[in-house]
Amino acid sequence: MAIAAKAAPAPLPRMTPPREDLNPFRIAQYQFDVAAEYLKLDAGLRQVLRTPKRVMEVSIPVKMDNGQVKVFTGYRVQHNIARGPAKGGIRYHPNVTLDEVKALAAWMTWKTATVNVPFGGGKGGVVCDPKRMSKTELERLTRRYISEILPIIGPDRDIPAPDVYTDAQTMAWIMDTYSMTVGYSALGVVTGKPVSLGGSEGRNEATARGCLYVIEEACQLKKIPLRGATVAIQGFGNAGSIAAQLLAARRAKIVAVSDSRGGAYNPRGIDPTRALRYKERAGTVVGMPGTSRISNDELLTLKCDILIPAALENCITLDNADLIRAKIIAEAANGPTTPRADEILARKNILVLPDILANAGGVTVSYFEWAQNLQGYFWQEDEVNRRLEFVMKRAFHDVYQTARKYHVHFRTAAYILAVGRVAEATTVRGLFP
Ligand code: GLU
Repeated sequence: MAIAAKAAPAPLPRMTPPREDLNPFRIAQYQFDVAAEYLKLDAGLRQVLRTPKRVMEVSIPVKMDNGQVKVFTGYRVQHNIARGPAKGGIRYHPNVTLDEVKALAAWMTWKTATVNVPFGGGKGGVVCDPKRMSKTELERLTRRYISEILPIIGPDRDIPAPDVYTDAQTMAWIMDTYSMTVGYSALGVVTGKPVSLGGSEGRNEATARGCLYVIEEACQLKKIPLRGATVAIQGFGNAGSIAAQLLAARRAKIVAVSDSRGGAYNPRGIDPTRALRYKERAGTVVGMPGTSRISNDELLTLKCDILIPAALENCITLDNADLIRAKIIAEAANGPTTPRADEILARKNILVLPDILANAGGVTVSYFEWAQNLQGYFWQEDEVNRRLEFVMKRAFHDVYQTARKYHVHFRTAAYILAVGRVAEATTVRGLFP
């Protein structure tokens, strides 16, 4: 009888360490699930709140300056409208994906609920490279994109605003396109407009100013005097560059700034106004006189009191969280920290002011702008800033109290607070039909 040769054990598959899931929408759903668990939400309600209410994909044909037609892809996602119209910016970026826009829309839902303004959450994005497009191409792209998503936007439905690589001029084109289509001037269809067109005083600085107000509270909690505190800022767009100026005016020391091309470092302090002027000329902060060049990765791991990620998602991950040496992280960007990184930062006792709190100043003043548009009555800048300070500090303390009650870090606390508010509104409304 032949005896079967004993098979040699199969070689073990080469194990690569499990990579972190960087899909922004799955991250947003995970963050929601954690809060839903604390709140013991029932399964049906969880299904409602973790998926977007409405998703629109459009193709946008644009005549380019060279006469050729190019077709771009755009999205508008309305994640939730239980507490009011959908609200959220429009992003122009080559890496925009539907899952990114879905995540950003969900984060808007939780953000508007965290600061308790009467909006839901939405977001838009167009896959394009605005740095390589002329102003007239961007205008045609914007007008056609808006006319494609027009059926689902409006002052009572969904109100766009600026986000990465869109600005007050973009909002003016949106307001005009919408208004020309409906036949009257609809100021409240979009926020972040130029002040000359019904924009609010203080809206341009609002994201950074809101961030400053929560940093002030966090510094008190951590007993770090803001005067003389060292600050590193990743990203030098609207949020990052204005945060640098507001913090420098409070006598904090900006030791490093960066943009997509790299960073500039000076341990004795960088003057943000000079950095801005340099960037306007050179197109980047890299190479600014009196600074040494550092990479974005080096900036994130600098020893400093306050780190402000103010660029894109997923910059603080499993790969670098352990190396972070800041005491406070204030997320001016949306989604800069992954859940795995969050766990590490919490273990290191770093206070993370989550995006849905730290950058909510923008949408808060968007709410003020919309309210002013509906009233047809406009406020002075100091009135706007005073109300913004009130909303941001109230939200900080709501989150802080929730963190103490549930023994959780600030991100989970903000989610518990926000998801609780949206769940409550959804429940009292009841299910249609
Ligand atoms: N894009 C900003 C954000 O992510 C502002 C949104 C708004 O003002 O509606 O919060």
